[in-house]
Amino acid sequence: MYYKWTLSFIFVLIASLAIPLTIHAQDQEDLYKERLALYKKTEAVTQIPWYYIAAIDQYERQIQKDLEENQVISIKIPEELWFGPGNTSKTTDKEMIKLFNGKGQDGNGDNKAEPDNPEDVLLTMANLVLEHGPTEEDINIGIWDYYKRDLAVHTIKNTAKVFKKFGKIYLTDRDFPVDIGYNYTYHNTWGDRRGFGGNRIHEGTDIFADYGTPVKSTTYGVVELKGWNLYGGWRIGIRDIFNIYHYYAHLSGFEEGLSVGQIVKPGDLLGRVGSTGYGPPGTSGKFPPHLHYGMYKDNGYSEWSFDPYPHLKKWERMARKKR
Ligand SMILES: [Zn+2]
Repeated sequence: MYYKWTLSFIFVLIASLAIPLTIHAQDQEDLYKERLALYKKTEAVTQIPWYYIAAIDQYERQIQKDLEENQVISIKIPEELWFGPGNTSKTTDKEMIKLFNGKGQDGNGDNKAEPDNPEDVLLTMANLVLEHGPTEEDINIGIWDYYKRDLAVHTIKNTAKVFKKFGKIYLTDRDFPVDIGYNYTYHNTWGDRRGFGGNRIHEGTDIFADYGTPVKSTTYGVVELKGWNLYGGWRIGIRDIFNIYHYYAHLSGFEEGLSVGQIVKPGDLLGRVGSTGYGPPGTSGKFPPHLHYGMYKDNGYSEWSFDPYPHLKKWERMARKKR
């Protein structure tokens, strides 16, 4: 009897857990579909490729505070730019905004330019970015002019490249950075003190594995940096579509043909585990072989290191499920 009750209890528990999870995934997918449709509509009207609009919106989703959960569009254009200098009335009448040289546009044809209407916001952003012209270079200048920040242009360009290549914005796959078919161990080592190079805090997780163990990309992104560094040895940096920079250090070498600017996806080979670093180029063997994995988040103003350990745990589970 007790056994039966436990079984049915477990069954109910599993069922109640599974249903919200599926609904949640479906909601997410619908949200991304809605976004993509809006980006494509803006492309049809302005000729600016949808993946640029998508990348700008994606960038702002990482830097804007006070976003509602599942907000469709995250771009927020400053009020003075939208309504025009001195236009304190903040009326959304599009002719009035024009009169004050405001940039706010009417994207959904209701004669109003509303800073919280997705179509109005996207059309306004597209026109702002197109102010220097329609070529790729013009658009990049337009993006720089709007954000006045190199890293913003850089991140948006890379994100646009990823969206264009994969033809979608719902990119949920991830992988563990070390091939899970090999032996490896790791602990939460983030924030530990370390000796070499003074009192630096350990900004990452060390994954210990044998020389030659394959090192793979964890996310979708673009190779931003590749080469030698005194501390990191042979290292590689990948910027993903969430304004996050992924740093892989102490590699024995790189995957052949891998180059800066290249688009990667989860599971793509980057190189092999080694023990390089702590000296001039080629220095190796000063510590046991391991992959140092670091993550850096950009909020639109500054970049800071955060603990990759919980993410590694999650990606490890995802990788195991796929096997
Ligand atoms: Zn490390």
